[in-house]
Amino acid sequence: MSKAILVIDMLNDFIKEGAPLELPEGRKIIPNIKKLLEEARKRKIPIIYICDAHRPDDAEFNQWPKHCVEGTPGAEIVEELKPEQKDIIIKKRRYSGFYSTDLDLTLRELKIDTLILTGVATNICVLHTAADAYFRGYKIIVVKDCVATLNEEAQKTGLEHIKNVLGGEIKTLNEILKEL
Ligand code: ZN
Repeated sequence: MSKAILVIDMLNDFIKEGAPLELPEGRKIIPNIKKLLEEARKRKIPIIYICDAHRPDDAEFNQWPKHCVEGTPGAEIVEELKPEQKDIIIKKRRYSGFYSTDLDLTLRELKIDTLILTGVATNICVLHTAADAYFRGYKIIVVKDCVATLNEEAQKTGLEHIKNVLGGEIKTLNEILKEL
């Protein structure tokens, strides 16, 4: 079993106070993700950042306020979780990290079969990335104290869908650290 950690949309426009699509819960998971990344780096587990990077007139803005426009500070990864040189960054324009990106190719080149998902939002980009991973035959593990969304109900619904419909495993940070 070969694993990679996905860090989804931990970007200023979702996480910072007053951001256009602020998810305050997203700030609470930063220390947990940081801890997971530190351990993953020690064990040479690949870390892949999946990042919203929209065009200024992106069609997604029919649905949501303008956010994460490529090249703006809002589209940057939060300071606390800045990537290191060997980490991989994949930009996306839709919810799924697989859609119109080279995530699948990248994972296949690295011989990865298991994805450990972290980031925001549990019931949107994490869920859609998990669904696309499931369709492609990857094993999915979601670290429940390393994902967040707008409220508790959406968090619960998102995790239940990943578990019950996509066959994902839901684990805590402590559980995952023991088996990395
Ligand atoms: Zn977006």
